[in-house]
Amino acid sequence: MTFFRSSVACQIVGKIPIRLRGKDFSCNQDPDPERILIEAYRRIVLASRPVTAPTLDTFRLETGTMPRPALGQLLVRTQYLSLDPYMRGRMSSATSYSQPVAVGDTMEGEAIAEIMQSRSDEFREGDIVRAMVGWRSHAAINAEDARQVRNGNVPVTAYLGVLGMPGFTAYVGLKVIGQPKPGETLAVSAATGPVGSLVGQLAKRAGARTIGIAGGASKCHYLVSSLEFDAAADRHTEDFARVLQDLSPDGIDVYFENAGGSVWHAVLPLLNRYARVPVCGLIALYNGVPQTGRDWLGDTMLAVLRRSLLIRGFIYSEFVSDYYDEFLEEVGPLVADGEIRYREQIVEGLEAAPGAFIGMLEGRNFGKVIVKVV
Ligand code: NDP
Repeated sequence: MTFFRSSVACQIVGKIPIRLRGKDFSCNQDPDPERILIEAYRRIVLASRPVTAPTLDTFRLETGTMPRPALGQLLVRTQYLSLDPYMRGRMSSATSYSQPVAVGDTMEGEAIAEIMQSRSDEFREGDIVRAMVGWRSHAAINAEDARQVRNGNVPVTAYLGVLGMPGFTAYVGLKVIGQPKPGETLAVSAATGPVGSLVGQLAKRAGARTIGIAGGASKCHYLVSSLEFDAAADRHTEDFARVLQDLSPDGIDVYFENAGGSVWHAVLPLLNRYARVPVCGLIALYNGVPQTGRDWLGDTMLAVLRRSLLIRGFIYSEFVSDYYDEFLEEVGPLVADGEIRYREQIVEGLEAAPGAFIGMLEGRNFGKVIVKVV
């Protein structure tokens, strides 16, 4: 199996405010080490709602008393925390498909965790589970919300990426909406991330010609040399739209949309009649930065009409009951055999989560972003 890890915590962590039982410290100070040992429970809360891009001040690290599991609950220790673009939506009070995180509450997130104490017959101490633990070192969670991880010969972290929610999103978006066929051309944005990299590899296996769109030359090189995309376009280059056009002599039949913004503007003229566009994510718009310049709605609707485009948004959760088991059965062995490749960027320590999350929204991640908490 091919996978890569890199630790870049020091570059992107920065300093976030820390609160130890009501007293404020900055990371530059050195709080009493004994007190830190006693107060092993740490969590990162939403300190304020960001209006545009989040900054380190948007978050606050807090310590406190270890949670106690009630009957039917598990006390878990977080091993790996997943960072995902959807978390930006949870920081905003705008209406969405899910409830926002309240200011002062723990940031939401899925994790791989070890059970320290079980008050349920379903699990034992030492079991490894996957659950919505949040950005914290320990949590008391309902046993019914935990899913045992039986990872076999795949690293547990794969269940946060290629074999977890992002991988399933790629699988189901292609299966239900994109449906690439032999000889067709598929393009995907954010192509080196956990969603995009699986989209490209699955489409290639379905016989399509694949074009990855990513930010930077090294990501584009990786797409072609390691993931065997047929071509890659760097969205940061000035002539990106022309490069994409040159790479698509037969047009684009499936565009798996993860980005929106200028990437969408470059793709739209290239879409063929009856092209399918699974709208999976629009990360260019998540920070709420006002869009300036030309209004693309008219062009988009004209293209939908004249070229009979299918543009369908989706959230992975609507398909879990119908397709999740099938996804694991089909993609799990391909990952275990190394036929599907993936890349992870692991940062060390819960304190690194805010900086890593901000970096991901800016495209500074290279692969699935995971925080190693213990
Ligand atoms: P990634 O690991 O791919 O990280 C996000 C990437 O988005 C960045 O690395 C960057 O890649 C790209 N990006 C950031 N800003 C911009 C921009 N302004 N324009 C274009 N690209 C940008 O994330 P995931 O694979 O986890 O998620 C990919 C997409 O899928 C996201 O939009 C996410 O919200 C969506 N998603 C949707 C789900 C659903 O159910 N609908 C479920 C899971 C994810 P680069 O710089 O290389 O272009």
